Amino acid sequence: MSDAVLRATHLTKRFGGLAAVNDVSVDLQRGRIHAVIGPNGAGKSTLTNLLSGDIAPTSGEVMLGGRDVTGWTPERISRAGLGRSYQKTNIFQPFTVWENVRLAAQSRAPHAARWLSRAAGFAPTNEAAERAIELAGLQHRKSAVSGTISHGEQRQLEIAMTLATSPQVLLLDEPLAGMGTAEAERMVQLLLRIKPGHAIMLVEHDMDAVFALADQLTVMVNGQVIASGTPAQVRADAGVQSAYLGE
Ligand code: ADP
Ligand code: MG
Repeated sequence: MSDAVLRATHLTKRFGGLAAVNDVSVDLQRGRIHAVIGPNGAGKSTLTNLLSGDIAPTSGEVMLGGRDVTGWTPERISRAGLGRSYQKTNIFQPFTVWENVRLAAQSRAPHAARWLSRAAGFAPTNEAAERAIELAGLQHRKSAVSGTISHGEQRQLEIAMTLATSPQVLLLDEPLAGMGTAEAERMVQLLLRIKPGHAIMLVEHDMDAVFALADQLTVMVNGQVIASGTPAQVRADAGVQSAYLGE
């Protein structure tokens, strides 16, 4: 497992007396989806925030591409190759799909190049944005005002904005939340398209999607990992079934 793009070991985050994340270790590898499941309050979003640098761990460490990024700012971790989507949207509603994705692509550019990339014709930024829109399946919506597209398309746009930063690691917090069956199926297909080039952590409640997508599965309850393995191994775990899957 030395080929992990991201490896977190023994991460703990305390909020006062509550250990929201308690001694959790996860590995993310290129071309694989590691799903994290668990009931509300299990610590899934806190774990995501620890990996992205949005909050600092009480203890434990995060290695990204062989570097210790523990305690780095989210901006620095983003430039080191980690992209994340948020449960709450980052989309600027009055802008078009193209404008939102292009702005996201600019945000990853190094400081010296950032003012240059504001020029509308700046090629590397445009290429990253084009590629992201295509992967996200939004070519036909490029010139649509973001506030007018459907809920499912807005979630696709969030993925496109994350992809525009050309990340190696993607952290996706409930990308299927609030979706109907057709929208959810489109998002599953989108995730399968982006899987080969990325190391992905997927926090998701939709078990059909999780079992369709995940190579590796970690189950959290009350901040702790209660099971980890392949989907088949986790499904067969009696403790997981009684604690979470309700079978
Ligand atoms: P999940 O995403 O699995 O639903 P969270 O990571 O959001 O769970 O929350 C885990 C626990 O940590 C919950 O009990 C939540 O109330 C608590 N928590 C999360 N963020 C904070 C915070 N900033 N301050 C205090 N408690 C928090
Ligand atoms: Mg959450």
